[in-house]
Amino acid sequence: MEYKLTRKRIKRINLYVKAPDGRVEVTAPLFTPKLVIDAFVLSKADWIRKKQAQMALSAASERPEEPISEAERAELKERIARLLPAWTERTGLKPSSWHVRSMRTRWGSCNTRTGRVNFALQLARKDDECLNYIILHELAHLRVPNHGPEFKAILDAHMSDWRRIRRKLKAQ
Ligand SMILES: [Zn+2]
Repeated sequence: MEYKLTRKRIKRINLYVKAPDGRVEVTAPLFTPKLVIDAFVLSKADWIRKKQAQMALSAASERPEEPISEAERAELKERIARLLPAWTERTGLKPSSWHVRSMRTRWGSCNTRTGRVNFALQLARKDDECLNYIILHELAHLRVPNHGPEFKAILDAHMSDWRRIRRKLKAQ
């Protein structure tokens, strides 16, 4: 295990795992043999790896996502325009209008009163399978506003593996 050693006028060996990259730094008394320090670091190996794993995880979750570009938005609109008519034909459900807007917590929304459907801009980075599922999901809401058995029956009738796709969408 690699570490950066600093010798100081101290009595004990100290070990630090530094954020954000998880590098290991050791301070040791002036005359402690290198072998003893190596053994000390080795004895802490499990703890060091655990710390490094925690740091890697929090660094990954803090990394801001690239904002979705205008080109990606335009591409998403084209994909929806290409995929949606087939679902309207299959289900007989047609939105009065549809729009793409940024939604942080949902993939889509449907106003059952006006028939207007919104798709999340964040779908721009999801594949066609996921997009098809969300299109069907929102169209189904035109008939059933909730997620009850009647709603699920519409999904089952047109997309037998929608539960798998929903799991995939959450995982991606
Ligand atoms: Zn829904």
